[in-house]
Amino acid sequence: ATHFKIDGLKAAIEGKEILKGINLEIKGGEVHAIMGPNGTGKSTLASALMGHPKYEVTEGAVTLDGEEVLEMGVDERARAGLFLAMQYPSEISGVTNSDFLRSAINARREEGKEISLIKFIRQMEGKMKELEMNPEFAHRYLNEGFSGGEKKRNEILQMMMLDPKIVVLDEIDSGLDIDALRIVANGVNAMRSEERGFLIITHYQRLLNYITPDFVHVMMQGRIVKSGGPELAERLENEGYDWVKEELGIVD
Ligand code: ADP
Ligand code: MG
Ligand code: MG
Repeated sequence: ATHFKIDGLKAAIEGKEILKGINLEIKGGEVHAIMGPNGTGKSTLASALMGHPKYEVTEGAVTLDGEEVLEMGVDERARAGLFLAMQYPSEISGVTNSDFLRSAINARREEGKEISLIKFIRQMEGKMKELEMNPEFAHRYLNEGFSGGEKKRNEILQMMMLDPKIVVLDEIDSGLDIDALRIVANGVNAMRSEERGFLIITHYQRLLNYITPDFVHVMMQGRIVKSGGPELAERLENEGYDWVKEELGIVD
């Protein structure tokens, strides 16, 4: 069974410590949400998990099914089954969406076991329909001229096609209107399974009305300071973060 573990993770940007010891365990079948005020290190966590070179991991360990993630390169992480939307380049000219997706799928397969073109196209067309994407999208250059909502849908399409074990989504809801949000959330919900775990990072509770998490964690000043169930997200939406600070004696 899928088991993702973040153990005492510390990370710095340009010598400044941002993550101050993150502990989190995600098992197959679980959806975890991380919420927190702006500037608290949520995106830094996603970037450190992705292996972004700008973020220096100074302490801690991350394992996926017992394998050391922090020792893997970005591509290796993807092959091991870690999906981070941001690891995909924002724009590559001359590469169509469909070419990119097919090579990403094949990069995760053994040589000689590449997906057949027909099977790939059939799968992609099916998923695009689920996401209410315009079929011409397949032939557009990756992310070139995509609107914010189109990029998000495309990230969900990539996730569906790559069939990862652990999915990390950072602010997947930002800039989405309510219809796009519903479609993206349906895409995520359709991918929930016993073999797959999710880490959903969001500033707003709104997304969690559509994707009900099993666990909600509050991040402040580079640490997870409080964990609970979905009711915690509702309380944060209604009352903001001040009560958490007061409860824990956090001064900023
Ligand atoms: P969040 O996603 O919770 O809003 P971030 O992880 O983006 O927070 O940022 C955490 C802290 O790290 C902030 O103080 C931010 O200014 C700083 N930071 C983030 N990215 C960079 C960067 N590339 N260079 C310098 N500082 C950064
Ligand atoms: Mg931010
Ligand atoms: Mg962020």
